[in-house]
Parts: sequence; C-alpha cells; structure tokens
Amino acid sequence: MQTNNILENLIESLKCLPGVGPKSALRLAYYLLQRDRQGAKILANSIEESLKKLGHCQLCNNFTEEDICSICNSQKRLSDTLCVVEMPTDLLMLEQTHSYEGMYFVLMGRLSPLDGIGPKEIHINKLLERIKKSEINEVILATNFTTEGNTTAQYIAELLKETNIKVTRIARGLPMGGEIEYIDSGTLAQSLVERKKLT
Ligand SMILES: [Zn+2]
Repeated sequence: MQTNNILENLIESLKCLPGVGPKSALRLAYYLLQRDRQGAKILANSIEESLKKLGHCQLCNNFTEEDICSICNSQKRLSDTLCVVEMPTDLLMLEQTHSYEGMYFVLMGRLSPLDGIGPKEIHINKLLERIKKSEINEVILATNFTTEGNTTAQYIAELLKETNIKVTRIARGLPMGGEIEYIDSGTLAQSLVERKKLT
C-alpha cells in the first residue's frame, strides 16, 4: 500500500519481511533513519542490485547471477546424483558438511496446500525436467522432517515411482554427541526404525 507519506511508505514496505508486524516495522524504520543511515543505504543498494542481477539457475533453481550456477557447471561433481532441498540455506548447510558431491535441486519451498503452495509453486515441472536432462540414478530427498517436508518428499517419491531412479530420503536419527536420555521420543523411535547394520 503506497501513501503520500515517505515515512509511512518505509514502514509499510518493511512489513513485507517475515515476522515483521506494524510495531517492528516502525522500530526498524526509526533505527535505519536515526542510528544507521549508512547501513540503510548499503541495504537499499544491495536489495536493488540483487533484484536486478540475481535470477534462478536454469538447472537447480538456486539463486545465481549466471544462467547456470557454479555447482551445476562443475565438472568435478557427480552428475548422476540429485539432492532435492527446500531452500538455498539447506543447500549451503549440506555443502558445509563436505560429504556430498552430487547435484542439487532447490524447490524454494514445500508443499503446503493450506497456504496455497502446490506443485507449481515448488517448481515440480522444472525438477522433473532436470531429472530428464541428465542421467540421474539417484534422487535424495532432503526436505525437512516437518509435516510439509515429509509430504513434499512423499509426493516427489510418488512421481518417480515408475522410473528406474533410486529414490532415497536422508535419515533421521540422534544428533552427534546426543545422549539417549535427552532425546525426544519421536527422534529416538525413528532412529530405531532406521537402524543400520554394523557387521
Ligand atoms: Zn544450478
């Protein structure tokens, strides 16, 4: 909603941020204007530049300045394994583990019919095209272990059922250094279900 009042416009625009209501928007606006005008300038410029220059990678759907991002372009990565994640931050976390060398697909969300987020909103067609484009042998579903994340994983698994592609889901279990005494019963139950053979 645009008004004729510059300050009101700023407050109104800040409300587009997640979790920012009228009061926080007001506080943020005053902060930027009063305490950190230089920071505000940098913020405004980076938002403008990002909007102008960043788009989605044609292959993995992650944000990039190029048509195809550096991960998709890399010759060193395994081109037959595709890991599906909800958000770019999930991809970053997985990259930081240095234990995955395959490709990615970023859904930019999760299925959530109540919020009007269906297959189209999470780019399922682009995912299926991506799978068709190169010879993918395994799709790893690394969506969150929330109701929506699980539904999304199940939905994709169902779509790939008739193909020869191996579809796997990342495992749930105890955290590193986790003591059984302090683990919630849901996680503990799942770690029993997904137990692995040692010898
Ligand atoms: Zn990419």
